[in-house]
Amino acid sequence: MNILVINCGSSSLKFQLIDSDTEQVKAKGLCERIGIDGSRLVYTPAGKDKIVTETPMPDHSKAVSLVLDALTDSENGVISGLSEIGAVGHRVVHGGEKFSTSVIIDDEVLKAVEECNDLAPLHNPANLIGIDACTKLMPGVPQTAVFDTAFHQTMPEKAFLYGLPYRYYTDHKVRRYGFHGTSHSFVSRRAAEILNRSCDDFKVIVCHLGNGASVSAVMNGKCVDTSMGLTPLEGLIMGTRSGDLDPAIIEYIANCEKLSLGDVMKVLNKESGVLGLSGGLSSDFRDIGKAYDEGKAEGRRAFDTYSYRVAKYIGAYTAAMNGVDAIVFTAGVGENDPLIRSMICGYLGYLGLSIDENENRKRGEEVQISSPDSKVKVLVVPTNEELAIARETVRLVNGG
Ligand code: AMP
Repeated sequence: MNILVINCGSSSLKFQLIDSDTEQVKAKGLCERIGIDGSRLVYTPAGKDKIVTETPMPDHSKAVSLVLDALTDSENGVISGLSEIGAVGHRVVHGGEKFSTSVIIDDEVLKAVEECNDLAPLHNPANLIGIDACTKLMPGVPQTAVFDTAFHQTMPEKAFLYGLPYRYYTDHKVRRYGFHGTSHSFVSRRAAEILNRSCDDFKVIVCHLGNGASVSAVMNGKCVDTSMGLTPLEGLIMGTRSGDLDPAIIEYIANCEKLSLGDVMKVLNKESGVLGLSGGLSSDFRDIGKAYDEGKAEGRRAFDTYSYRVAKYIGAYTAAMNGVDAIVFTAGVGENDPLIRSMICGYLGYLGLSIDENENRKRGEEVQISSPDSKVKVLVVPTNEELAIARETVRLVNGG
C-alpha cells in the first residue's frame, strides 16, 4: 500500500510517498512559502533529480493539490492515479493528554486536536489545515494522526508535574508533555532490535540531537521521562533555543534590555542555544564544529556547554531508571557529529561506558560506537519519523 506522509507547518508542507510493503520512498518533497510570495514545490521522485517549480500557493489546499499533481504527473510521477494512495498519515505536533497513541482521523479526533491548539498555536492549526486539504482532495481515503507527544504520555505524574500550584495543571493543562515522540519511540525500539534485547526488559536513553533536541528515558518500552516540557523550549540547549533556565531570568532580562515578555520569549526561542552561546556565529553545528577545531572561544564555549547539559540529563535519567543498558544518539547532530558524541560520552566513564573512536567516526549510519567491554552500549541509530508514521498508518488502517 502507498502511504502519503504529510508534515504541515504554518507556511510549509513536507511529504513522502512510501510503499509500505517495501518501505521504500517512492517520492518526497517540500512546499515552501505557502501563503507568501515566492512559493515553490521541491519534488524528488526516487532515483531522479529534484524538480523545483516556482508557483503560487495561496493556501495549503493548493499545496496539497500540487503535490498530488506531481505524484501523478505523466513524466515524473510515481503513481498513475490518486486511487493508488491507500492512506494519508499526518504528523500532528500536540495531542495534549487526549492522545496516547496514533488514531484514525474522524470528526471527534479533529475536535480534540483543535482543543489542543492553545498548547501548540503555531503547529496544530497548520496540521489541521493539512488534514482538511487532504479530506477535500482525497475524499474517502483514510487519514491518521501521529502525535509528537503521544509516546511520552506514559510518563508518571512525578515526572510530568511542575512544582507549581496544582490547579494550573487541572485548570490550564500546565504539565510536561515532551516532543519528538515518534523519533524516541522508533529509535528506542530499533536499539532493542539491534542489541537483540526484548523491549520489555531494556533501559535506554535516547538523545535526539537535531536543531531541536530532547532526551528521553525509556524503560521496558515506555517513556518514563523526557526533557522537553509544556513546549519544546525546556531541556537541552538547542540550535537556537535556550533549554532549561532560571525562570527569574525572564523578568530580569526584560528589565535590563527593556524588552516585552514576547520579545524575551523570542530571544529564548530564536536567538539562544548554540547560536547565542557562540555570540551569534551560527545555529548549525557544522559551523560551530569548525570554530571549535580552529580553537575559537565561541566554538569551545558552545560545545562545552551543550555537551555538559546532555551529559547531566543522561545522569539524571540513569538515576530515574535505576540504571541504563544503552544510550542512543539520533537526528542531525546525534547521527553526524562524532565530536559531540565523544564529548558527551567523556562524562560517562562512571557508568563503565567507553567508546571506540574508530567506530564513532562513522556518520549517518546504524553503528555501535561503544567499545566491546563497555558496560553500557552506545549506538547511533538514524531516525526516520516518516517511516514510523507510515508504519503506524498501516497498522491503524489494517485495524491494529
Ligand atoms: P535535524 O533537526 O535533525 O534535521 O538536524 C539539523 C541539524 O543537524 C543542523 O542544524 C546541523 O547543525 C546538524 N548537522 C547536520 N549535518 C551535520 C554534520 N555533518 N555534522 C554536524 N552537525 C550536522
